[in-house]
Amino acid sequence: MSDTIFGKIIRREIPADIVYEDDLCLAFNDISPQAPTHILVIPKKNIPRLSDSHSEDHAILGHLLCMVRQIAANAGLSNGYRVVINNGQDGGQTVDHLHLHILGGRAMAWPPG
Ligand code: 5GP
Repeated sequence: MSDTIFGKIIRREIPADIVYEDDLCLAFNDISPQAPTHILVIPKKNIPRLSDSHSEDHAILGHLLCMVRQIAANAGLSNGYRVVINNGQDGGQTVDHLHLHILGGRAMAWPPG
């Protein structure tokens, strides 16, 4: 199990505002939201970065995207939303446990910084 802050959230060692959970993943509100809705979706499996995932993880990766769709719908993001995966140092990743950001509730700018 990941010993990052997200591993601690999975193990309930620190609190989080959890919005969805199943056997494979957990979703919770970001502690520092960058949009009116900012939810993080993480696998329970310890995959530090997307680039560390393997072909045997394809079911988990697909599941995460399917849950993003469901969680975004549950959050009422019917006008659209952005899904972001920051990968590694140049990608701006700060927590080494794979996570998908769901950002919504306002129009997003492009290109990202
Ligand atoms: P990254 O920059 O790695 O793509 O995103 C990490 C995200 O985790 C950031 O948006 C940050 O606000 C969020 N985050 C960091 N620590 C915590 C925490 O303890 N609880 C929650 N809910 N979010 C956190």
